[in-house]
Amino acid sequence: MEDTDTIAAISTAVSESGIGVIRISGPDAVEIADRVYRSPGGKKRLAEVDTHTIHYGFIVEPEAAGNALQSGISDASEKSADVIDEVLVSVMRAPRTYTAEDVVEISCHGGILAVTRVLEAVLKAGARAAHPGEFTKRAYLNGRIDLTEAEAVMDVIESKNRFALQNAVSQVQGTLYRKIEEVRKEMLYQSAHIEACLDDPEALSFEAYLPEFSSEVQQWTKELSALLATADSGRLMQEGIRTAIVGKPNAGKSSLMNLLLGEDRAIVTPVAGTTRDVLTETITVGGMTLVVTDTAGIRETDDLVEKIGVQRAKGAIERADLIFYLIDSSTYIDTEDQEILNLIQGKKIIILQNKTDLHTLTDERQIRRMASETGLGDDIPVIPFSATEKTGLDELVSALRTMFFDGKLLFNDEIVITNARHKELLKRALESLKQLSKSIDSQMPEDFYTIDLMSAYEALGEITGQEAGEDLVDEIFSRFCMGK
Ligand code: GDP
Repeated sequence: MEDTDTIAAISTAVSESGIGVIRISGPDAVEIADRVYRSPGGKKRLAEVDTHTIHYGFIVEPEAAGNALQSGISDASEKSADVIDEVLVSVMRAPRTYTAEDVVEISCHGGILAVTRVLEAVLKAGARAAHPGEFTKRAYLNGRIDLTEAEAVMDVIESKNRFALQNAVSQVQGTLYRKIEEVRKEMLYQSAHIEACLDDPEALSFEAYLPEFSSEVQQWTKELSALLATADSGRLMQEGIRTAIVGKPNAGKSSLMNLLLGEDRAIVTPVAGTTRDVLTETITVGGMTLVVTDTAGIRETDDLVEKIGVQRAKGAIERADLIFYLIDSSTYIDTEDQEILNLIQGKKIIILQNKTDLHTLTDERQIRRMASETGLGDDIPVIPFSATEKTGLDELVSALRTMFFDGKLLFNDEIVITNARHKELLKRALESLKQLSKSIDSQMPEDFYTIDLMSAYEALGEITGQEAGEDLVDEIFSRFCMGK
């Protein structure tokens, strides 16, 4: 049966590795483990060991383990043909476990064959293969963690840089959950007070209470808006800043890409128009993650292959959070540069004045003038750069920080919203609070207040899972990886 049976899965990557872990969770976890476990002396039963202890032994075919126990087979037995692998078995009984159920973890040798065969034996012994995310889902359904903590577990796994990791780890520990629940508790209290006023207007005056209520609503709005305001930098921190490298052919785009990558991945050639496709890579610079697309030289062309590249480059620009615009300062800028600038209007731009190691024909002043004439403003960062000499990188990192993270990257104790679902629900809660403020200002009847107050309360409850339906929960956990 779903959610009450015993499940098992490989929890580590199935690849050549030092160890692999098979996790079993559910009421029969220990019993099932006993069916495949054989201790060196053949006598130990995991059902009898203390909780949170580790045991050396062997995994054998289920029937073989049973026979061994019955006949009290001796030390020679581990050499028998039934032995699948030499293992360490951790026995952890409910409720202090990842799922809050009985959990057994079998650490075997890594590699595809050993882990797969151990899992097969465990399944043969009575466990059901777990769905992706099912262990974490059980932790949630058993009330050990809330939805924000569960989602943060996935964020920890997917973290691309240490800031994202720090934030995810803090949310695993419930920082967002506590913040949201704190506001929800106050909302519930206020709602109860309003109801009481409505029930007994003689004893409790709503009029007299209104100023206090109004200031509470303002306070919630302030707090939730502050949370919402972190969402943009949160997404960029979590998923990376989508960056497109643009510039005329030969400006040095591929060279910049390679410099950022630290290896020769893109093809660098002195012939104009050789980067024909778009190349996307995830790169970490100065602690920030950039998802960088090197675009083909943007220029009108008759060459079909190149034309497709040009189309893709335009697409990459549209999707980008940031443009690195490279200008070859050893040549003159021309109308082609002007056209590129037109194409990237409205985007966040950092101009890299590349090839400063060569004789300069286009200086910073000229670049600024052109940007200004194209209507891009006067405050675009223009950074003297050399992709071949590797100069200008520090300035680039610092410009990025200023542009996207107000110069700071350590968020310390600040809760940062990195999840699109949380962002949408925060918006919904704020929308309801806005309605509520309007109702207060226009002195609507009292029962109007509770409707909006409750819809804000419910939106926030959907973030933590207090108000989440089964479909949503299934949807969230289906995105998890196997064995988590
Ligand atoms: P792309 O067409 O914009 O991708 O340009 P590439 O990266 O292929 O570079 C074109 C040529 O310029 C190559 O020969 C590079 O070695 C050279 N190049 C790129 N950046 C620099 C630089 O900063 N200084 C110098 N001297 N040459 C550079």
